[in-house]
Amino acid sequence: MTQAMLEDLVEGLRVPTDLFVGGRWVAAEDGGRFAVVDPATGEEIAHVANGTVEDARRCVDAADAAAAGWAATSPRRRSEILRRAFELMTERGEQIAELMVRENGKALPDARGEVAYAAEFFRWYAEEAVRVSGDLRTAPSGANRIVVLRQPIGISLLITPWNFPAAMATRKIGPALAAGCTVILKPASETPLTALALAEVLADAGVPDGVVNVLPSRRSGAVAQAVLADPRVRKLSFTGSTEVGRTLLQLAADQVVSCSMELGGNAPLVVLEDADLDVAVDGAMVAKMRNGGEACTAANRMYVHRSVATEFTERLARRMADVTTGPGLSGAALGPLVNADAVQKVHELVEDAAARGARVLVGGRPGDGQGFFYPATVLADVPTGARILQEEIFGPVAPVVTFDDDDEAVRLANDTEYGLVAYVFTRDLARGLRLAEALDCGMVGLNRGVVSDPAAPFGGTKQSGIGREGGHEGLLEYTESKYVAVDW
Ligand code: NAD
Repeated sequence: MTQAMLEDLVEGLRVPTDLFVGGRWVAAEDGGRFAVVDPATGEEIAHVANGTVEDARRCVDAADAAAAGWAATSPRRRSEILRRAFELMTERGEQIAELMVRENGKALPDARGEVAYAAEFFRWYAEEAVRVSGDLRTAPSGANRIVVLRQPIGISLLITPWNFPAAMATRKIGPALAAGCTVILKPASETPLTALALAEVLADAGVPDGVVNVLPSRRSGAVAQAVLADPRVRKLSFTGSTEVGRTLLQLAADQVVSCSMELGGNAPLVVLEDADLDVAVDGAMVAKMRNGGEACTAANRMYVHRSVATEFTERLARRMADVTTGPGLSGAALGPLVNADAVQKVHELVEDAAARGARVLVGGRPGDGQGFFYPATVLADVPTGARILQEEIFGPVAPVVTFDDDDEAVRLANDTEYGLVAYVFTRDLARGLRLAEALDCGMVGLNRGVVSDPAAPFGGTKQSGIGREGGHEGLLEYTESKYVAVDW
């Protein structure tokens, strides 16, 4: 057994850098490792075991060996272990936050916010674990009873993105463990360290060997294919881009694996003429700038009624101009983007909009020093054909478009293949609720720039995904209903 540890990443912090399989820290079967890079400097900060296809099979074996025992563990015991994981994660919160800043780049306040949010999924699902209820009905004919059991769906493959390295993992591990499933977590290659720190939290909280296995790998496609080809694996829960989601849905089809998909977003933020502009600007700032704009829920398109567009845009531009940019641990409000490609993509979208006639009010140029920095940017008068209104920006850029009436706002907002979340600002609650019903998406923030909550069903319509995470719904994704027809 090896247990490579990284000790100098953040002073005093020891983070495992091996694979976590069957409760043991092990090197990759071929000894390979890959580099993790600090986006603030471009420097390598760790070398993590690079899981192979053979390691993927070992993970399935470990998850299989633990499956019956974990499914038979009492809900109360599962609940207590998850509650302990919440407490340990909270105790280690500052270390995990610093780790996330180093591998993801996000500003420290965003990282602290994510740790608190992520830990809440352990607490919420500790509370849900003892409430997995079945159902008892009478057949309409009166001939018999219908008993509905909710059983663990089985071994689950969890694949997570780099933008929320902790929360996207706990949002899957919490309900899977509560339901009695064993899991294999494949974290994003950019941010494996946070996932490995979580594996330690879970092991220390008393999760039995093999119930949670963590498989960092640069060979994402090959290891996912190997896991999904194994008929013992019954669930795929994926958070990431729509493009990779489509590929995984096709792979999952071979063994008819149940899929929960949290994919890309292109959130509209609609400001009606009767909105309280203080509330709307505050909401727009958080909806745009939480996590530096690298969020599937980030406001991607701001639709503002013509009568308030100038005032809203000026106020937003002033707030965005005040956003400080720098390394995540420096006290800056905005850290670097995750890598050089991300900076290039964001800048291409800004240049395309500007070339089509958009006005750049703030920002609009990448940083010229080391690290992958892009400043807070506001674009006004963005024309409908601009790519930035169709593609996920995943950066700190706010394009503003004007509209004239509610019908036009709904039409523009729904004009996208995505349907994750929308934000609406109005003082008229009935009008806001009418718009919420008309918007084709899974979630609506009404006079709020944040919708994420462990107690609420998170997810999207159209090409933003299938299924829900969080709330009671999130747990049901890891159960299978079994119906027993009974005479008595
Ligand atoms: P990504 O799709 O590139 O990667 C996501 C995960 O899939 C990573 O672990 C990656 O290593 C893995 N992966 C990549 N190619 C794969 C393949 N062929 N087979 C199997 N796995 C593969 O996404 P990303 O760049 O890490 O994250 C950003 C995306 O995630 C954005 O589109 C964002 O909107 C989305 N996201 C969605 C939600 C949501 O809840 N809807 C939340 C966060 C992020």
